Amino acid sequence: MFTSPAHGIARGRALNSALSYVRCQMDGMNSESAECICDRTRQKILCRSCGQTFTGRVRRRCSSHPNEIHLMDFEMCPYCKAPCTQLKEFGDLKKN
Ligand SMILES: [Zn+2]
Ligand SMILES: [Zn+2]
Repeated sequence: MFTSPAHGIARGRALNSALSYVRCQMDGMNSESAECICDRTRQKILCRSCGQTFTGRVRRRCSSHPNEIHLMDFEMCPYCKAPCTQLKEFGDLKKN
């Protein structure tokens, strides 16, 4: 008599799906820690160089999508042309 291998296969499948579930969870955590900033909302921006505030997003490289370029984002202060290192985003407009 041979023993049915079905048991072993079923167990293998369960293990596989458990693994892929874990992998899925890890991917979720990774993309969260990598922090995709592509979809972030417009913020209030303070220029530390001239003190002006305006609304928008400071151009930053998304660590998840380093090749994305967001043309609407501010690369410099529109008032004094200070580089984006002088621009500070503060406050989420939607949450306020
Ligand atoms: Zn992104
Ligand atoms: Zn400025």
